[in-house]
Amino acid sequence: VTEETRAALARADAHSAHNYSPLPVVIESGSGAWVRGVDGVEYLDVLAGYSALNFGHAHPALVSVAREQLGRLTLTSRAFQHDRFADFCSDLARLCKKDAVLPMNTGAEAVETALKLARKWGYDVKGVERDRAEIITFGGNFHGRTIGIVGFSTDPDARDGFGPFPPGFPSVDYGSSVALADAITENTVAVLVEPIQGEAGVLVPPDGYLAAVRRLCDEHGLLMIADEIQSGLGRTGDTFACDHEAVVPDVYVLGKALGGGIVPVSAVVANWDVMGVLHPGQHGSTFGGNPLACAVGSAVVRLLETGEYQQRSRELGEYLHGLLSALPADRVSEVRGRGLWAGVQLAPGQPAARVICERLLARRVLAKDAHEGTIRIAPPLVISRADLAWAVEQLAEALVGN
Ligand code: PLP
Repeated sequence: VTEETRAALARADAHSAHNYSPLPVVIESGSGAWVRGVDGVEYLDVLAGYSALNFGHAHPALVSVAREQLGRLTLTSRAFQHDRFADFCSDLARLCKKDAVLPMNTGAEAVETALKLARKWGYDVKGVERDRAEIITFGGNFHGRTIGIVGFSTDPDARDGFGPFPPGFPSVDYGSSVALADAITENTVAVLVEPIQGEAGVLVPPDGYLAAVRRLCDEHGLLMIADEIQSGLGRTGDTFACDHEAVVPDVYVLGKALGGGIVPVSAVVANWDVMGVLHPGQHGSTFGGNPLACAVGSAVVRLLETGEYQQRSRELGEYLHGLLSALPADRVSEVRGRGLWAGVQLAPGQPAARVICERLLARRVLAKDAHEGTIRIAPPLVISRADLAWAVEQLAEALVGN
């Protein structure tokens, strides 16, 4: 770590909350899959902002749209309509093959929005007794950091010290359709599921699980809410991770890459039979659906509609998983994931994933652990094959101790 980096880190530490423990690097610019530190070193980014940078740093088409919009109009609030709003909503609805979009900003906000929507639908449409609605969640989930959401987290770090929490969110084991079926009651209105659990360590549920969730929702008249904030928008080789099992949820929750790595853009997307339960005054956001967000969001949809990014993710993902499967079994016990998304599980007795990430940093690769024993590899979908191979070479070296 250079003097410049050390000084920049110390300056940040002095006046920022210590709610993260970032790797010791300070980035000043980026392009594609590469970033440059204040130390003048070029690093390969294989985290991609937790999949917010699916299109890479400074994607020319996205930057150009953002620049143009910056000079024209950035905020009206939803008190007034602006000329980018209709296009964004219809573009995203078309991508999702749904009727209606409710734009928010961050992922957690969109999840909270989906929970409110599901409860309202439960009372107004399903006829569940007022204030009794239950939304089933899963062990190991990660949906964000609000009080409501951490209340149904099963991670002690996320929840301890932040109660009391809102009731109505029973939790069942992820991956077991039997456990899910057992938890359904007359008050259940929805199931909130990550098609692949990202923060839990890129956990892919058993084949047929999402289809089983869909079936149970149909049988019991529940909304299937898919949190595709991290898994969606090309990451797994399809537009949505649910596509892999040809499953169509009732509600998509999207974020991260929807803002092209430029602005926070999230959204809840559903058909009118669900979205129609919300009326003026019942939900909102000052910045949700602002002109800059809408312009960038529409440009993101246009990129995804080419199919190019999903294809890259599929092809490079296959290549990545092939390379990772050749890592020595005494160091790596399992590699999980789909598309350009992998959780590399370290074998028992190996150093913490954080230590491996520190070694990777020294080798100019920026990766992040997901829980103690997992290194996550989720590079921008624009990464080259050669860079991907180089990153895995660095990982192989880091695993053997330097
Ligand atoms: N849902 C999932 C599946 C996520 O992975 C995340 C973030 O990692 C969130 C929700 C929360 O998004 P945000 O950090 O934008 O609030």
